[in-house]
Amino acid sequence: MTTAIVWFRRDLRLADNPALQAACRHADRLIPLFVWSPGDEAPWQPGAASRWWLHHSLERLNEDLARLGNPLVVRPAGRALDAIRDLVEAQGVEYLYWNRLYDPALVARDKALKQWALEAGLTVESFRAGVLSEPWEVANGRGDPYRVFTPFWKAARSRDCGAPIPAPKQLPMPPAGLDRGAVASLGLLPGIRWDAGLAATWRPGEAGGHDLLEDFADGAAERYGQVRDLPAEPGTSRLSPYLHFGEVSPRQALRLIERVQDPEAAQPWLRQLYWREFGHHLLFHFPHTAEAPLDPRFADFPWADDEPALAAWQAGTTGIPMVDAGMRELWHTGWMHNRVRMLVASLLTKNLLLPWQAGARWFWDTLVDADLANNSLGWQWTAGCGADAAPYFRIFNPALQGERFDPRGHYVRRWVPELAQLPERWLHRPWEAPQAVLDTADVRLGRDYPRPLVDLAESRAAALDVWEDLKATNSPA
Ligand code: FAD
Repeated sequence: MTTAIVWFRRDLRLADNPALQAACRHADRLIPLFVWSPGDEAPWQPGAASRWWLHHSLERLNEDLARLGNPLVVRPAGRALDAIRDLVEAQGVEYLYWNRLYDPALVARDKALKQWALEAGLTVESFRAGVLSEPWEVANGRGDPYRVFTPFWKAARSRDCGAPIPAPKQLPMPPAGLDRGAVASLGLLPGIRWDAGLAATWRPGEAGGHDLLEDFADGAAERYGQVRDLPAEPGTSRLSPYLHFGEVSPRQALRLIERVQDPEAAQPWLRQLYWREFGHHLLFHFPHTAEAPLDPRFADFPWADDEPALAAWQAGTTGIPMVDAGMRELWHTGWMHNRVRMLVASLLTKNLLLPWQAGARWFWDTLVDADLANNSLGWQWTAGCGADAAPYFRIFNPALQGERFDPRGHYVRRWVPELAQLPERWLHRPWEAPQAVLDTADVRLGRDYPRPLVDLAESRAAALDVWEDLKATNSPA
């Protein structure tokens, strides 16, 4: 009788799971294991919204495994190595399988764990399941990692990533006398229940992810190029948390293109899926970029230290409607539309001159799709200090952006209801509205809704001055 552990991490699915497939092939007994090991992930242990998602996703995975006769085995907070060693010793485990992750702390942890397991005489195998190509498989002509998206995309998309594997129809049985533990014992849900908005918005788990994927393939995927920038429209897939936790695999997402009627029209969406690949490529090759800028000119950027401004940004009370709408959408649902992520990040790093790392940390705690690779990429891109980044001098004007991408004001009215009565003409810049218009709309600036935290034009000019100084300091003598 051979016994295998399949160590689930961010691959919380039965289908297209190569580690699970290997165990089904080779073992007579199976331990499907999840270890809650936040210490292993430090300093980027999952934030509050991610923990909420993880709890529900593990519950669904447990149900799916139980239907096949072998429910999830759960181990509470501790080092993964300790939990796995205990199980190996108690159950005489011979095979250990997992799917690879690419965050720097996890690469180091998994390397050490593999070393230990090999020395302990186990057969250990890890697989590619969270990306379409391994970060080390895509390289430029000199064999170096890419830093610019378009050539990366051209190189990456021509690679064959294989077909998704179907879910197993049956599983090897569990060993006798196994203490399973319970997902609830991991304490992932918040003590004070702030999660009602998340629960009303999302259905974590493999089935929820696939329903969403199919709805998107049958509907918005072909219109993506036209509507992807309109935050009031359901125009993007919202698959990001499912891709992060691995309830949907990138290979399954890629296959979506075969279902849509007009695959050409869905190309812009595929491109975004490869931005995710690019993020993983960058984080793997430049692991310091979760904390520090990729562009060394930004290492000594004179960021401001302004706690009240940061708090107003976090709370969605900056007085700038598109920014406040985005920050409130984030707080309520654990997600924010990509266009609005760019706007709120631009306001923080450019108009307020606050460090991108402070914004990235807030996103980390509040996003259900918080992902070290994508979050670092998105923040550094917007701040102008990352790979293939928006140039620093490109500073979004959130009022103009609102007028362009939320022209009817549906998005702002939904998330900033105190402005609901304002006419479209003034909705994105209430500070310019005539007093009579504000009176009619029942808005008293400074009481019902804040005055803007910064003057957009002045703060833009100040940011550009800082940038000119930085360029002068860093230019060769
Ligand atoms: P769709 O538009 O349907 O795209 C499909 C998938 O492609 C997404 O689910 C995602 O996995 C990937 N993708 C799309 N856009 C990007 C992008 N710009 N960069 C990398 N991958 C992308 N995404 C995260 O998954 N986690 C994060 O923590 C995160 N933080 C961000 C922070 C900032 C400041 C910015 C500007 C962007 C961030 N993004 C992050 C990228 C992007 O905003 C989200 O992936 C996207 O909004 C998710 O919505 P969707 O699933 O509907 O995307």
